[in-house]
Amino acid sequence: MIQLVRGFRDILPQQTPRWRAIEKTAISLFQDFGFKEIRIPILERTELFARSIGEDTDIVEKEMYTFPDRRGELITLRPEATASIVRSYIQHKLYAKDPVQKVYTTGPMFRRERPQKGRYRQFYQIDVEILGIKSAYADTLLIFMLITLLDRLDVSDAQAHINSLGCSACRPGFRAKLSEFISSRADVLCSDCNRRRERNPLRVLDCKVPSCREAMADAPSILDSLCSDCERHFKELTQSLTHLNVSYVIDKRIVRGLDYYTRTIFEIQTGSMGAQNAVVGGGRYDNLVKMLGGPDIPATGFAIGLDRLVEIAGSRLGTEQKQPRVFIAAIGEESIAKAFSWSCSLGLEGVCAELDLSGKSLKALMKRADKLGFEYVVIVGDNELRKRAVILRNMRTKAQDLIPIDGIVENLKKRLTT
Ligand code: ATP
Ligand code: MG
Repeated sequence: MIQLVRGFRDILPQQTPRWRAIEKTAISLFQDFGFKEIRIPILERTELFARSIGEDTDIVEKEMYTFPDRRGELITLRPEATASIVRSYIQHKLYAKDPVQKVYTTGPMFRRERPQKGRYRQFYQIDVEILGIKSAYADTLLIFMLITLLDRLDVSDAQAHINSLGCSACRPGFRAKLSEFISSRADVLCSDCNRRRERNPLRVLDCKVPSCREAMADAPSILDSLCSDCERHFKELTQSLTHLNVSYVIDKRIVRGLDYYTRTIFEIQTGSMGAQNAVVGGGRYDNLVKMLGGPDIPATGFAIGLDRLVEIAGSRLGTEQKQPRVFIAAIGEESIAKAFSWSCSLGLEGVCAELDLSGKSLKALMKRADKLGFEYVVIVGDNELRKRAVILRNMRTKAQDLIPIDGIVENLKKRLTT
C-alpha cells in the first residue's frame, strides 16, 4: 500500500468541520476589520524566499522544498506567505491605487522540519498583512484582532509576547553587544549557537536547547539599545495595547526566525502545546517591499498556525450539525427508484437524505441507520407504495408516523426542520 510522505497528513472528513468552523470564525473577524482575501501561488521562484526570509535562517538553510523544474529553473514550495504577498503587491502595483492594503490568505505551507506533534512538513496558516502603515497602531490592531479571535475560539491560556528588533540604525549596535555576550558564554552554548554567533547572533536568543536558554537568561535586551524613533514606536505599541485592555508580556527572547522583521515582533503562545507553544508569529517588516524592488513602503503582519490552533481551540467548534439528516430505508426496486428522486429533491431543499442503495433487507438497513446515528428513518416498501404513505420512525423514541407520499418532500422538510 502506498503511504503518505513523512510529515504530511490527511485531514479527514470527521475533522474538517472543525477546521472550517475555525477558519470561518477567523475570516469573518478579519473581514469585519476591512481585510480582503488575496490568493497567491504555492510555488514561487526560490530567489523570492532566499532574498526575503534570509540566507542565514533555518527556513532557507535547511527547511525549504526546493527543486529544479523541467527546464532547470529553481522553484520552491512556499514556506510562508508574506514574501508572495509582497511580491504580488509590487508586481501588480497595488500601492498605486492606495498604498494601504489590508489582506489575508489561507493555505498550506511547506517546511522540511522534523515532524512531531504540532510540527508538520505541510502545515496550514492564515496569514494577515497590513501594507502601507508605519504607525504602531497597525501592530496593535493585529494583536487586538488575534486576542479577540482566540477569545471567540475559547482558547483560554493565550498570551501575547512582544518585543522590538529595532531598525537599521540601532540593531547593528545591539548585535555587537549581543555578540560579545555570546562570546563570553561560548563554552556552554550548543554548536548551532556558536555557529550563529557571527552571522546571526539574534537567533541565539531563541535557541530551544535548555542549557542555551539558561546561559542566555541575562543576555542584554535590545529594548535598552533602541534608537529614539524605535523607542517611540514601541511605546506607542504598549500604550495602545493597554488602552484596549490587551494584556501582553515584553519578552526579550523572541526574535523570530526570519530576517525581514523590523521594530515590532510578536508571538501568541499557549501553555497547552508543549514545545510547540507558538500558535501565531508576526511582526513589522518596513524594509521588505523596498528590498524586493518596490517603493519604500512599511508593512506589518502575522501568520496563525492553523494545525496548532485546531489543537487548542474549544472542543465544541465544528460539532454543530449543519442540516437535518434522514436515512431512507427503501426495500425493493420500485421503492428505491421513488426514494431516489425524493432524496434528490430533499437535497435541493437543504435536507440531507441518506438513501441506502445496497438492496439489503429492512433489518440490515435499520442496523446501518442505527450505527450511523440517524435520528429519523423513512421506511418504504411495496406495502407503503400501495398505501401511498411511508413510515417515519424516530430512532430515539421509537415512535412511528405515517407520511403521505403525495407532497412527501414538503412534508418531510417540515417535519425535520421544525
Ligand atoms: P516555531 O518556532 O514553532 O518553529 P516559527 O517561528 O518557525 O515557529 P512562523 O514562521 O512564525 O513559525 O509561522 C507562524 C506559525 O505557523 C507558528 O507560530 C506556528 O503556529 C505555525 N508553524 C510554523 N511551522 C510549523 C510547522 N512545521 N508545523 C505546524 N505549524 C507550524
Ligand atoms: Mg520554525
